[in-house]
Amino acid sequence: MSHDRPADQGFETLAIHAGQDPDPTTGAVIPPVHLSSTFAQDGIGGLRGGYEYGRSGNPTRTALETQLAALEGGTHALSFASGLAAEDALLRAALRPGDSLLIGNDVYGGTYRLVSRVLGPWGITHRVVDLTDLDGVRTALAETGARLLWVETPSNPYLRVSDIAALAELAHAAGALLVVDNTFATPALQRPLALGADVVVHSTTKYLGGHSDVVGGAVVLRDAELAEQVKFLQFAAGAVSGPLDAWLTTRGIKTLAVRVQRHGENALAVAHALAAHPKVARVHYPGLPEHPGHELAARQMTGFGGIVSLELADGAAARRFAESTRLFTLAESLGGVESLVNHPASMTHASVKGTELEVSEAVVRLSVGLESADDLVADTAAALEQV
Ligand SMILES: *Cc1c(COP(=O)(O)O)cnc(C)c1O
Repeated sequence: MSHDRPADQGFETLAIHAGQDPDPTTGAVIPPVHLSSTFAQDGIGGLRGGYEYGRSGNPTRTALETQLAALEGGTHALSFASGLAAEDALLRAALRPGDSLLIGNDVYGGTYRLVSRVLGPWGITHRVVDLTDLDGVRTALAETGARLLWVETPSNPYLRVSDIAALAELAHAAGALLVVDNTFATPALQRPLALGADVVVHSTTKYLGGHSDVVGGAVVLRDAELAEQVKFLQFAAGAVSGPLDAWLTTRGIKTLAVRVQRHGENALAVAHALAAHPKVARVHYPGLPEHPGHELAARQMTGFGGIVSLELADGAAARRFAESTRLFTLAESLGGVESLVNHPASMTHASVKGTELEVSEAVVRLSVGLESADDLVADTAAALEQV
């Protein structure tokens, strides 16, 4: 473990080395995957390195948590079996029955489902707000007395950009915590804790894992007391990441910076090509100057990410497009090296149909991968011919 690694090292250095010191016993440059569910004690309670049982702690998980904390500029990171498991632990650590929270109007559908259908029946109320309307957020904080403001930026699937620093100020003035789901941007492009957020959550399933081969989630923060409560739920409710999952995620993270850079270049090429196509009604990509969040994104992020959404004439056209690409595989999820296409209204966002988070049938979301940009542009052009 590299807890004492200098905090001022560069992002790429931390991604490769934080928590990744060579194994002290063998010199293995890649620390081993510790598959053991339990750890020998030297006399009762005599733990070596603090490890006792795989749910309470595992060295491979510790290595991932050290790496995640370093990348987000946090002091504590806790890793979980999925993004939603991380969100659940955080929300139950931070809120109590009777509390309320505000969530953005196009947060991840699963977040909305967790808040409305799991936490709701346990007495936690929510209100949906437009995070780009700061006055509206201020009013909603005052009216609801919300303890927590949940922000996703850029959002899914409209890639709306909201102002983390401004929202942090509003939340703190109202005595609320600001949580940012940083899954889309990743710490390679956006560091919410440095902008004033209290907590960052991730679905590490996406860009951090980066290869569509592992499901996971994380909570990163600086408040030791809240971290202790999240850690307690990680242990007491038990939604931990397994050692192999933690190791795969760690391996993915080492190349995060270069992957995200190329995802962004390819996404921009695809977005430009789509924006120039007569059959495309609208392109949502913060890297395009005409995107309403472009300037804020340029200020708050160091790149625009790899997700592009487009609107076609109607739902039939959107479905036809999503079923016609060849390189872009029709599948849920995002952030892997391979390009994916998704029809949110009937796939990722089906669970928010009929709510304030409903997504237009005409929208298609692309997760632009690391294939050759020319091939990706050609694939979307060929699919548009079928529309
Ligand atoms: C996928 C996703 C989640 C949920 O993560 P899982 O790993 O699928 O549980 C949360 N937030 C965002 C933005 C996501 O894309």
